[in-house]
Amino acid sequence: MAYEKPLPRVTADTKPFWEGSKEHQLRFQKCRSCGHVRWPASVICPKCYSDQPDWIVSSGKGKVYSFVVHHRTFDKAFEQELPYVAALVELEEGPIFLSSIVDLRPEEVKINMPVEVTWKDITQEFSIPKFKPLS
Ligand SMILES: [Zn+2]
Repeated sequence: MAYEKPLPRVTADTKPFWEGSKEHQLRFQKCRSCGHVRWPASVICPKCYSDQPDWIVSSGKGKVYSFVVHHRTFDKAFEQELPYVAALVELEEGPIFLSSIVDLRPEEVKINMPVEVTWKDITQEFSIPKFKPLS
């Protein structure tokens, strides 16, 4: 069955992230100058303006920083997942990442709940990071 949701738009800045996702690695830029780990990927560090990042592989572990439960959608491609949880996940390395929480009922999601990344292979080219309760 064809994937009907919007696909990521890969840019020069995000290409290493999506290449990592395909290998089920959650990658973030880490500033070579000040060590700040950032998301989203960008040309310069928002803390020190250095343009020299390295890419690191995240542990994929973090906690729920905030979330909402969607009971309606404006895109038919998401209807079969209703209700679903969109969450901000604070990773151990620092970035706060927008994703969704899977593998539990929406009413079971709590702020500060420990979670870990899990991967959904959506097409030949893309795997999408989601989060599930830490096992
Ligand atoms: Zn920096």
